[in-house]
Amino acid sequence: MIPVKNSEEVKKMRHVCAISAAVLDEICRHVAVGVTTADLDDLTRSVMERYGAESTTFGFRSGKKIFPGYGCFAVNDEIVHGIPSKKKKLREGDIISIDLAMRVDGFVGDNTRTVAVGEISADVERLIAVTQRALKAGIGAAKPGNTIGHISAAIQNLADENGLGIVRELVGHGIGREMHEPPEVPNYGVAGSGPTLKPGMTLAIEPMFTLGLPKISVDSDGWTIRTADGKWAAHSEHTVLVTENAPEVLTLLKK
Ligand code: MG
Repeated sequence: MIPVKNSEEVKKMRHVCAISAAVLDEICRHVAVGVTTADLDDLTRSVMERYGAESTTFGFRSGKKIFPGYGCFAVNDEIVHGIPSKKKKLREGDIISIDLAMRVDGFVGDNTRTVAVGEISADVERLIAVTQRALKAGIGAAKPGNTIGHISAAIQNLADENGLGIVRELVGHGIGREMHEPPEVPNYGVAGSGPTLKPGMTLAIEPMFTLGLPKISVDSDGWTIRTADGKWAAHSEHTVLVTENAPEVLTLLKK
């Protein structure tokens, strides 16, 4: 069963997602040469605290492992779940995917942006741009009467057209009271397959594309997921509300 939010719940989703967007934007603005991912995580903790938000990644359990970061910071060939580290210092030409999920008033917002550190190569710039366009395409398909497969297919199209790899092991997800709720939202698939979308559903849509093969490998820390071939990856995510009309991007930054 995919939870459908009532108007009170939607209000709370709008609230936490607006905060999630503001926090992510503030952290992204601190990305610079010489900054470590531990610096960014410290800042994430204090900015979340200022907004009264609680990280849903800090203390997150997977089997016996517990995630130690307030956010996830994936650099270059890392795709997701990068553990913040003092040893990971950003250099000119790097990219970093910052994935922040947080709870306010019982509801969770989740969003991710890949940011360039100074000048990056044209290939990597294109990787980031196409991943963002795929997110937009996926969001555009989040309409009542469509299925999850319409979102998946729209995302896959962009990767296929541009010769990019689609990470298959990691998927988007429903979101609400918990960070991960049904359904899964894969970044590949066939329009018309999977559950039908209804107004009031909230989904975290999050394409992850690679410049090389989509195969992943997991570091010995048990968390950090990177490309097996060492080619770089980009990740773009918004939390989206399905409505009667156009989809509402809840984590869109309000200027
Ligand atoms: Mg997510």
